[in-house]
Amino acid sequence: MKDFSEYKNVWVFAEQRQGKLMNVALELIGEGYKLSREISKDTKLCAVLAGHDVDHLVEELYAYGADCVYVLQNELLAQYTTDAYAKVITDAIHQYKPEIVLFGATHIGRDLAPRIAARLNTGLTADCTRLDINTGNYMDYLEEYTTASLTGLDRNDPSTNIKQTRPAFGGNLMATIVTPNTRPQMSTVRPGVMAKREPVEGAGGERVDVEVQISKKDINVEVLEVVKAAKELVSLTDAKIICSGGRGLGGPENFKLIEELAEKVGGVVGASRAAVDAGWIDPSHQVGQTGTTVKPEIYFACGISGAIQHLAGMQTSKIIIAINKDPECPMMQLADYAIEGDLKKVIPELIAMWDGE
Ligand code: FAD
Repeated sequence: MKDFSEYKNVWVFAEQRQGKLMNVALELIGEGYKLSREISKDTKLCAVLAGHDVDHLVEELYAYGADCVYVLQNELLAQYTTDAYAKVITDAIHQYKPEIVLFGATHIGRDLAPRIAARLNTGLTADCTRLDINTGNYMDYLEEYTTASLTGLDRNDPSTNIKQTRPAFGGNLMATIVTPNTRPQMSTVRPGVMAKREPVEGAGGERVDVEVQISKKDINVEVLEVVKAAKELVSLTDAKIICSGGRGLGGPENFKLIEELAEKVGGVVGASRAAVDAGWIDPSHQVGQTGTTVKPEIYFACGISGAIQHLAGMQTSKIIIAINKDPECPMMQLADYAIEGDLKKVIPELIAMWDGE
């Protein structure tokens, strides 16, 4: 049996861009805090903050629940590059030996986590939507759910295992994965599915300034300029209200209705994949399993049937308002407010109501 006793604590990669923490980093601090307390009262939730001139973010990480912040600063970390970030975080993991390391499933997290996992020769579960600490023996759990051979796994393994759940086979089943034979256990987690903690102003914590060993020869690319892509302007993840349109719109011209509704209610435009695949709207608007996962206060689903792959990306929205001709479709069944009718009539009426006409 492998001895993992020197691996301790839960780490969260505190992804920042241009000196601003990504929402998913704060969500993972919330989730990581919960997991760390489930493991033991001595287990800490640690944020790993890499960059240049990022001191101002440390307090924010404490406020959202970090017990400890590992700060990795160097001017070669000012812009994200795979080589530099993978090297310094891998070195820190070797040095401090965390038990669990979590990344947001953002473009950066998806690029970085597998490279670090490969360098550490450890397991990585990508795109998780749920994480649990296994309180019983994971073998009991696995035996209940699988007929596959479980050779190589140890019934008497005393170490803590994290159960990582992610959609599989096109979202038709949820797979639960453990990586019991390697440490650290690593996951990327979708933005928008975990809950942030309420920030506590003035919360303190431990700070560890990690000595970063990095030089230009470790980095194979040079970032000359960061140009904000037009699609980054669509911030579905952070939107409080989302107005989404689907195939029921009947054509690209009717996205105007969705845009008008979004403007009226102060929301952002989303879309189903059917609308995106038809070329009616840019893919950056897509909500769902292969699009963005969202959790707004209000989600308008206009002419969207509610296929499982769409629901996977929005079903935790606080209030769902569906507009559809078919009262039996899954989206109408799920909705808090289901408006049966032709969206071309209903949406203008909603806009007029909003105006108080
Ligand atoms: P439809 O299912 O065709 O529904 C159209 C709806 O509009 C119907 O309910 C209809 O009653 C209603 N309607 C029609 N006319 C009107 C009208 N005038 N007024 C009001 N209502 C009207 N889909 C996603 O959305 N996101 C994803 O990320 C995603 N990932 C996928 C990944 C995989 C691997 C696969 C296999 C599929 C994925 N899909 C995804 C596709 C998904 O399975 C569905 O095909 C898609 O969500 C359907 O989009 P829709 O609801 O707009 O269209």
